[in-house]
Amino acid sequence: MSNYVIDIGPQPSLPVAGSDKRFPVGRIYCVGRNYADHAREMGHDPDREAPFFFMKPANAIVQNKASLSYPVGTKELHHEIELVIAIGKGGKNIAVDKALGHVWGYGVGLDMTRRDIQGEAKKQGRPWEMGKSFDESAPVTALRPASEIGHPAKGAITLKVNGQVKQSGDLAMQIWNVPEQISYLSHLITLQPGDLIFTGTPAGVGPIKPGDKLEGHVDGVGDLIISYKG
Ligand code: MN
Repeated sequence: MSNYVIDIGPQPSLPVAGSDKRFPVGRIYCVGRNYADHAREMGHDPDREAPFFFMKPANAIVQNKASLSYPVGTKELHHEIELVIAIGKGGKNIAVDKALGHVWGYGVGLDMTRRDIQGEAKKQGRPWEMGKSFDESAPVTALRPASEIGHPAKGAITLKVNGQVKQSGDLAMQIWNVPEQISYLSHLITLQPGDLIFTGTPAGVGPIKPGDKLEGHVDGVGDLIISYKG
């Protein structure tokens, strides 16, 4: 019996691949514009930017193979396929060469984006949250432990919509690699066990419509399949 005055539901979590255990999800940090080709398609110069971050709530997590309703409040829902880091050990001011020691594992995620709302926020100089941090905006596969798959630094990252390739990149194209992202973020906030980091998306982001099927893939990490109801 808890002492809380209301019940807020279960701890958000993700399955661990090949196990009946689950990974509890704390906070979700997302890196913006971390592939040069995507930064360029959004109208920015990739060479001049330090990494920057935004967040999604833990309960925006969606399990693999879900069938979702098209979200409210948008006419332009975009896909962004991303490698996701699962932090196992917290810390602050983490050195780049110590950063991988804080990683529990990896998954494949979609940073679903209400691009019209985000675009308006950018224009008005307002926060991005309503474009990024809405219900069911963070589908992620089962996580795979780094103790089994190592730390992916290169390999294909792709997204198909209805069987057609829309995004096709390589993890090696990240402007800030995994250890650098962890180190940089840990100098801004104290990382906690259970935190996820969405590591940015390659070029080819675009709108989806009701009835579409999204298939994401990262070599050596997994496959994410999400359908939107017609
Ligand atoms: Mn993103």
